[in-house]
Amino acid sequence: MVAGNWKMNKNLQEGIALATELKNNVKNPACAVVIGTPFIHLASVAEVLKGSPIQLAAENCADKDKGAYTGEVSAEMVRSTGAQYCILGHSERRAYYHETPEILKEKVGLALANGLKVIFCIGEVKEEREAGTQNAVVKAQLDGSVFHLTAEEWKNIVLAYEPVWAIGTGLTATPDQAEDMHRYIRSLVAEKYGQQVAGETTILYGGSCNEKNAAELFSNEDVDGGLIGGASLVADKFCAIIEARNNA
Ligand code: PEP
Repeated sequence: MVAGNWKMNKNLQEGIALATELKNNVKNPACAVVIGTPFIHLASVAEVLKGSPIQLAAENCADKDKGAYTGEVSAEMVRSTGAQYCILGHSERRAYYHETPEILKEKVGLALANGLKVIFCIGEVKEEREAGTQNAVVKAQLDGSVFHLTAEEWKNIVLAYEPVWAIGTGLTATPDQAEDMHRYIRSLVAEKYGQQVAGETTILYGGSCNEKNAAELFSNEDVDGGLIGGASLVADKFCAIIEARNNA
């Protein structure tokens, strides 16, 4: 899978233009392609993507089912736009909006209950990497928010390992650092759900992945694709990353 995460960058007209360009360029990908857009884009972009293999993700959803939560957008609302995925646990949501493992557990449950698949992000900050605690950090994030799921529910989970020190910084994990962590994550999934499920779990890498380094990152056995921020905002770059995944 190659998934884009547009974040707070495009207004509605710009978003529709980018989605249209992607639709025109991504006809027959050999991998799943998903674009994550702001809430306000979802319904319009879903319309643009009709007949396209590109799937659509929200970048968040509420931790409540429905009701008096001014400004929030529920998982059911997201699903009603035609989106198939929801990105949850992104480090920016954890850091700036104080989303705890418990809150994320609620969001994951609501997303799945409403028929959305979840791209669940995990990853350590720079100090944790420097202290050598990255494995424990990632394990705690999984334990806290998704490892309570049943094997049946797990089929709708995609993991994205995003070392926080690499997001939007131009610093990329080396292919070895990425592979080491992805192999570790897969071993945790195997402990929990068995070897076969672990083998079938999609584990994406995210963090300054771009059209230049994607092929090398994707050549690792346990790196199943990428979650792409900055480079997903330019159609040519995003398409080149999809191409890199197709050729991996
Ligand atoms: C992201 O935000 O998920 C991300 C990986 O961003 P970037 O590619 O810009 O580092």
